[in-house]
Amino acid sequence: MTTLLVTHQACFGHDPGRQHPERPARLKAILAALEAPEFAALERRAAPLAQVEQLARVHAQFYVDRVLQAIPSSGYAAFDPDTIVSPGSGEAALRAAGAVVAAVDAVVAGEARNAFCAVRPPGHHAEAARAMGFCLFNNVAVGAEQARKVHGLARVAVVDFDVHHGNGTQHMFDLFYASTHQWPFYPGTGAADETGVGNIVNVPLAPMSGSPEFRAAMGDVVLPALRHFRPDLLLISAGFDAHVDDPLASLRLVEADYEWVTRELMAVADECCRGRIVSTLEGGYDLPALAASAAAHVRALMGD
Ligand SMILES: [Zn+2]
Repeated sequence: MTTLLVTHQACFGHDPGRQHPERPARLKAILAALEAPEFAALERRAAPLAQVEQLARVHAQFYVDRVLQAIPSSGYAAFDPDTIVSPGSGEAALRAAGAVVAAVDAVVAGEARNAFCAVRPPGHHAEAARAMGFCLFNNVAVGAEQARKVHGLARVAVVDFDVHHGNGTQHMFDLFYASTHQWPFYPGTGAADETGVGNIVNVPLAPMSGSPEFRAAMGDVVLPALRHFRPDLLLISAGFDAHVDDPLASLRLVEADYEWVTRELMAVADECCRGRIVSTLEGGYDLPALAASAAAHVRALMGD
């Protein structure tokens, strides 16, 4: 069965400024790595624009309108000191969310086993009515609601291994959310005692934690909880900023950890839902580490 790669040229058009770590070169590095011959079997699809009603399943309608109206015709506009938009940001954000929607549709329809959405801006910090942390729309939550509302899937899970806690996803998505993240750290949420109604699993990791701590958090806590939940579809917030080389954070993962966790998540998806996984890019700011880590993740998704 196929692995989809969903992306769009418009995602290069979101430019938060020359000094900003969440820059177009991130996506360029990932797509260049995925041009290697071993990735020739990927089925490449262009991301459609998300529709406003798809975004409004998780965001306030007034917020969706406000984001799109705030896109400048030249120069920059800022939602907060970190979250800056340029003239191309509106289409990029709509393509980023639309990629996850399209990937969910394709995987649920059986057109592919799994999918990776190589998109930006990222999404997991975006709240129902607030842009923050480089994020405008919560791409993974929009995809999760597509699975639920359009395809009628009752048990949709999100697992987030970005180094930051996905505050927005945790707040807006009420089925199953599990996250490993550096702690204490931006955005301040994600304490172990934030468990919702038993549907939220947070495993904070101390600065300088590496492979052993990450694999224990996943193996002892997240994966058993995910197996217990028995997802009909698994979504992954795939941030690669827990890598040892990442300049924004202080965890010490390596490419092999991303390959490992992807294979472990695939094993659960194989048991529960015929392997159905939709993964979407979140963070990752050291270009070589990001490219190699994303390649390791996609290599695993394409594997047996
Ligand atoms: Zn991050």
